Amino acid sequence: MSWPTISKNVDAFPVQPNLLDYAAVRAGFTWAEARTALSGLPGGRGINISYEAVDRHAAGARASAEALRFIQANGSSTSMTYAALAEQTSRFASVLRGLGIGRGDRVFSVLGRIPELYIAVLGTLKNASVFCPLFSAFGPEPIRMRLQLGSGRALVTTRALYRKKVSQLRASLPDLRHVLLIDSDGDPEPGTLDLARLMLEATPYGETAATAPEDMALLHFTSGTTGKPKGAVHVHDAVVAHYATGRYALDLHPADIYWCTADPGWVTGTSYGIITPLVHGITTIVDQEEMDPLRWYRILTEEQVSIWYTAPTALRMLMKSGSGEAVRPDFPALRFIASVGEPLNPEVVMWGQKAFGQPVHDNWWQTETGGIMIANFAAMPIRPGSMGRPLPGVDAALVARDENDKPVMHEGTAVLVNDPDAVGELALRPGWPSMFRGYLGEEERYRRCFAGGWYLTGDLARRDSDGYYWFVGRGDDVIKSSGHLIGPFEVESLLMEHEAVAQAGVIGVPDPVAGEVVKAFVELRPGWDPDEALRRDIIGFARKRLGTAVAPRLLDFTAALPRTRSGKILRRLLKARELGLPEGDTSTVEVQG
Ligand code: AMP
Repeated sequence: MSWPTISKNVDAFPVQPNLLDYAAVRAGFTWAEARTALSGLPGGRGINISYEAVDRHAAGARASAEALRFIQANGSSTSMTYAALAEQTSRFASVLRGLGIGRGDRVFSVLGRIPELYIAVLGTLKNASVFCPLFSAFGPEPIRMRLQLGSGRALVTTRALYRKKVSQLRASLPDLRHVLLIDSDGDPEPGTLDLARLMLEATPYGETAATAPEDMALLHFTSGTTGKPKGAVHVHDAVVAHYATGRYALDLHPADIYWCTADPGWVTGTSYGIITPLVHGITTIVDQEEMDPLRWYRILTEEQVSIWYTAPTALRMLMKSGSGEAVRPDFPALRFIASVGEPLNPEVVMWGQKAFGQPVHDNWWQTETGGIMIANFAAMPIRPGSMGRPLPGVDAALVARDENDKPVMHEGTAVLVNDPDAVGELALRPGWPSMFRGYLGEEERYRRCFAGGWYLTGDLARRDSDGYYWFVGRGDDVIKSSGHLIGPFEVESLLMEHEAVAQAGVIGVPDPVAGEVVKAFVELRPGWDPDEALRRDIIGFARKRLGTAVAPRLLDFTAALPRTRSGKILRRLLKARELGLPEGDTSTVEVQG
């Protein structure tokens, strides 16, 4: 079914949107001009994300303004001003310096959304070191893999998370010199340091280290179809895009109270849960708890959230709970809702209008792009189901693909799909500041992302005659569950470590709330019976090692997995069978499982 366009009456808006005339702003936009909104380091010493996000506000009129407001389990909150954040982050930078952790060294975290995480991210950047936040629901295996690939020098975590997930890995992590526990309470675990004590002893006055625009700042791991997770490298200059996209795609204004529900373990929670709102000098809400419909409605109301950036899975959970109607919440401050990470059903866009008096504005981006690339803007009509139009400064196109899913090239140029509504691979012209600068240590994998001067996103999309982009699907086998990207290979490899498992194939199957859930197909070793006890044992093994965010929720036994003659598991065939879809060309299939 096609959904009616949602038009906007800008005159009725409480504030004038930052982007009123799309064509005019695009035509006049340059990244050089966008850069002038930022301060740069004093004395022309370069640009530093942390300086733009914290110190320039702390040194000016916003010093005593509320930067971060943390909502605790019982609903009470603690606040941190820009001045306090500047002091705490300087102390953290000084702790790192004291430990011999310097320029370019990687600092990791495994933490929930607590103040120490935010201080660690920004303090690390102040020290010219590189931060890599890991999701606290990861199990030991994803943590080990990422610490190893990123050569983590220091890790910030809690005692409980350390005991449960990290202590047993220490022997396999020779680069990891220091583990800083935030809650040692004067009694550190063996092999760890007491961060609270070190913070007290550290100087709060350190100057932000000089960093050049191209210096590495953040490392975010993402998943591909094959091989290990990829560490996408982001640089300090990305802050220019964070500022500009916050202005245009999220319509941030100085008096806003902003809530991004994403965890900093995923790129949205760092780019838009930390950097963007702070660079704009506004107040950011951080909920320390997991998603709960009534709690979320309460936060939106009581904290007077004006701009809310969330995800389709969360919106679907709210919609399903029906609790909005039950508590009749009122959102007088709320003026803009945006969503990212997975396809946003038109029904949810419309429900937003009913439940919040605001439609939901879908936008699109990915770990590699570092910031929002395509969006539905505040002042512009929404076409429910569409991701919107490219940001000012972003050139998008659709590249034709051949039967092997490779870009079609003609005389060194990528062939573009220009017919309205024809499908191609979504591609972006490199040049925006938050674009990743490489996959850590994997030059070839990085190079393969480009063709004929375009960055290929791996997503399939179409564009209508008015330039709105519509998501069609992933061009690969990567799974999106509750907004989290999961590499099937990482799950398959772990499953094969279970003594009963000979082979595993992992796919995403549709789920009405999570978008997709991870499903494993397992071929057993001889002598094992495919019974319910074993099924539960394998799922339990995966949950313990991979964590709940990554482990399969469903598992079927199969006598033989479909493979190509070269032995590659045909996940697409598994999926087609699971969904009862046509199996396509199976001429290269070795085992008809
Ligand atoms: P990540 O790198 O984990 O942020 O995941 C990025 C991927 O999420 C994209 O390549 C898309 O496949 C998917 N994605 C992000 N935003 C959207 C959206 N608005 N609609 C559909 N898929 C999306």
